[in-house]
Amino acid sequence: MNLNIPHKDFINIVSGISNQSSEQEINVIYYDTRIINAINNSVFFALKGRRNGHDFVQKAYDKGVRCFVVNQQVALPQDAIIINVEDPLRALQEVAKYHRDQFSYPVIAITGSLGKTTIKEWLYFLLEGEYNIIRSPKSFNSQIGVALSLLEMTNEHNLAIIEADISHPNEMKYIEAMVSPTLGVYTGVGHYYADNFESQKAHATEHLKLFKYANITFGLEAYKSELRRNKINAEIINPEEWSEIDFSHLSYPSNRIIALHMAAFLGVDKSILLKKVHLLPTLSNRLEVFEGIDNNLIINDSYNIDIDALEQALSYQFSSDERKDKIVVLDLSFIDENKQQEILNIVNSYRPKELFILKENHVPKELMEVKNSSILFKGSYRSRLKETVLLFKNRKHETWVEFDLKSIEHNIRTFQSKLPETTKTLVMVKASSYGTGDNNLPHFLQQIDIDYLGVAYTDEGSTLRENQITLPILVMNTEINAFNDLIRFNLEPSIVSFDQLNALCERLEQDNITGYPIHITVETGMNRLGFYLEDIEALIEKLKVQPQVKVKSVYSHLADADNPNADYTQQQINRFKQIKGKFQVALGKEILFHILNSEGTSRFSKEAAFDMVRLGIGIFGYTSTAKEDELLPTIKWKTTISQVKTIKSGETVGYSRNFKAEQSMKIATLRIGYADGFRRSLSNGVGSVFINGTECLVIGNVCMDMIMVDVTDVICEAGDEVEIIGPNIDMQLFAERLNTIPYEVMTSINKRVSRIYLR
Ligand SMILES: *Cc1c(COP(=O)(O)O)cnc(C)c1O
Repeated sequence: MNLNIPHKDFINIVSGISNQSSEQEINVIYYDTRIINAINNSVFFALKGRRNGHDFVQKAYDKGVRCFVVNQQVALPQDAIIINVEDPLRALQEVAKYHRDQFSYPVIAITGSLGKTTIKEWLYFLLEGEYNIIRSPKSFNSQIGVALSLLEMTNEHNLAIIEADISHPNEMKYIEAMVSPTLGVYTGVGHYYADNFESQKAHATEHLKLFKYANITFGLEAYKSELRRNKINAEIINPEEWSEIDFSHLSYPSNRIIALHMAAFLGVDKSILLKKVHLLPTLSNRLEVFEGIDNNLIINDSYNIDIDALEQALSYQFSSDERKDKIVVLDLSFIDENKQQEILNIVNSYRPKELFILKENHVPKELMEVKNSSILFKGSYRSRLKETVLLFKNRKHETWVEFDLKSIEHNIRTFQSKLPETTKTLVMVKASSYGTGDNNLPHFLQQIDIDYLGVAYTDEGSTLRENQITLPILVMNTEINAFNDLIRFNLEPSIVSFDQLNALCERLEQDNITGYPIHITVETGMNRLGFYLEDIEALIEKLKVQPQVKVKSVYSHLADADNPNADYTQQQINRFKQIKGKFQVALGKEILFHILNSEGTSRFSKEAAFDMVRLGIGIFGYTSTAKEDELLPTIKWKTTISQVKTIKSGETVGYSRNFKAEQSMKIATLRIGYADGFRRSLSNGVGSVFINGTECLVIGNVCMDMIMVDVTDVICEAGDEVEIIGPNIDMQLFAERLNTIPYEVMTSINKRVSRIYLR
C-alpha cells in the first residue's frame, strides 16, 4: 500500500479532528496490530470487530505507529497524532473511496452469494498478460476487506477486480460508494439467503445495489428477472456462445462461462480463451500449513507470487507465534525484474531471519539445515518450488487429512451469530483437537480471538503451553499427581469433588498461592463428573473460606442435546439455573456459567447461552443439524493409488482370500489400512472410496497398511488421488458405515497420517 496522502488532506477525507498537525504524509493503513511491519507514515484505525481496536492502540504505538484514527478517548504519549472521527470504519471507507477516485481505469465488481472468489480468480487468470490487474486478495470481500483491496490500487495497474459481500440490510450502499464499479458481475443469490434478510428477494436486492450506477452488469439467464426488477443495466450471458466447449467434465461450468464471457468482453481472443478454459487453476490458492521435518512449520503458497497473495502469506506467517524464527524461501523464476525487486522489498520489510532465493531449483545446504522455524515457500505457478516443498514433508506416507481452517472459522462465527454478544466462546481442543493435531488448530483459534480453550487432561494443557498457547485453558479432569504441571503451566482445573478441592487447596497453600482460578463442574443429568444439587450449599460454604482458589466458572454438560425431544435437556437446564442462583447469591456476579456444547448451542442458544458456550464437533461442521445451520464440512481425508493391476476370473484378493473375482477385473491397491483408521469392518464392499469421480468398492479384507478396491470402470493410474472422506463420502456416511459417530472417526485417524491445514 502506498497512499501518499498529506496529513491535512487525510484529516479532511476522514472528516476528523486532529490533536496536532503534521507535515508528514500517510502511506500505509493498519487496523490489526499483529501485521504492522512498515511503520513510517503509517496510521492505525481503531475498528470495532470482535475486539475493540481502541484496546490495541498502545500496542500499535509500541510497534512504531504514531498516527491514530479513533472515536473513543485513548491514552497515548504526547507525540501520538490522534484523529477523532465519528466512525473509524466509515472513515477508512472514505479513504478507500478517495483513493479509488484517483484512478480512471475500469473497476469490475463481483457480488452474489456464491462463486465470487472463483470467478475473480479465473477472470484474473484469463486476463493476465492483457492487463495489469489489481484484485481483492483471497476473499477479502467485507466492509473492511473491500476498503483494503481498493487501497492497493496504483498507477501501474489498468484494471481492478473487486469482490464484495454483505450480510445485513443496508450495508451495500457503503461498498457501492467506495467501489463505484464500472462493470458488474452478479453471481446470484442461492437458496440459502443470509439469515438477516427476510427473503431471497430482499437479499438479492441488497446485493444489486452495488450495480446501481455501473455501466453494464453481467449475469446468467437465471437472474434476469432479479436484474430487471432492480432496474440494473444488464447483459445476460448466453452459454450457447461457448457451445464448442464440453463442460461435462469441468467443475463449476456456470462460473467458467461467466469468466469466459467477461474476458471476451474485455478483448481477449476467443481462440486463446478456448485453450485457457481447460487450464483454469483449481482454487487451491490457499495457504497450506503443515508440520515439516526438524520441527519446522511449513507454509506452502507456491501457487502464485503476485503481490497481494504475497502480503497475505507474509502477514499470516509473521502474525502467528507458532514458531519464533521466520524463514522465507522464494523462487523468482518467470518473474520480470521490476517485480522481483518489488517482491524483495516487501519480503525484506518483514525482516525474516533468513531469506533464500532459489535458482534453477537448486536447494542450498543451509536451507536443509533449518530447524524449529516457520518456513514460507513462495513461487509462481510455473516454478518447480512444489518439488522443493516436498523435501520438507514430515511424513512421506501418502495418506493425509486436510482441515479447512476458513470453514472452521465460518462455523464458529455461525454459532456465535446465534448468541448474545456478551456470551464467550470456549473451544474444546481435547484429544489433540478432536484428532486434528496438537497445535495448529489451537494457534488458529488464538489468532481468531476465541476466549477460552478446554482440554480433558492436564498433559494436553501442558503441551499447549509448551507451544506458546496463551489463552486461558480449562482442564476437565485433574488428577492429584498432575497439580505440579497444572500450577506451573497456569492451567485452570475443573473441580468435581470435595476430596479433589481439599487436595488442591492444600497444595496451593504450601506454595503460598491465593486466588487460583478454578471451575466447578456440576451434575445436572449426565452422571459423569461433578457436584449434585444437594452438595452445592456445602460446597459454597467451603469455597467462601478457601482464599487459595477463585471460582471463575460453574458449568454442567448436556447428555441428550441432539434428541429432537428436548424434555431431558430442558430438565438439565432448569436444574442448572437453580444451581446458578445459589452461586450468584453466595459468591457474587463475576462467575461465568455455561452448559451448552455444539448441539446445545445450535438448539438452545435462546434460553441457555448464559455467559459462555463450549464448542467441539460443531466447529468441524458435524452436528446433527449442520445443514440447517449452514455449517460447512471441514475435513477431507485422502490417499493415493500405489499400484493398478488386472486379475483373472477366479483369482482371490487379500488375506483369507475373502474376495473372489467372478470375471477379469482391474483393481487398485491404496496406501491406507486399518492402522490409519480405515477400519477392518469396511472390508469387502462395506466401505468404498472415490477415484476420479467414480465410486470404487473395497474388495477383500482391509490390511493393516493397504486396501484393494475395484477400479474396473475407472481411468486411473498409480499416484492418483483417492477420496476417503470428502464431497462424495461425507463424514456422516463414513461414520454410519462404521456404526459410529463423527467424533470417533475423527479421533481414530492415526498419528502417522499427515495433517494439512488450509488457510
Ligand atoms: C467434549 C465436550 C464439549 C464439546 O462437545 P461437542 O459435542 O463436541 O460440542 C463440551 N463440554 C464438555 C464438558 C465436553 O467434554
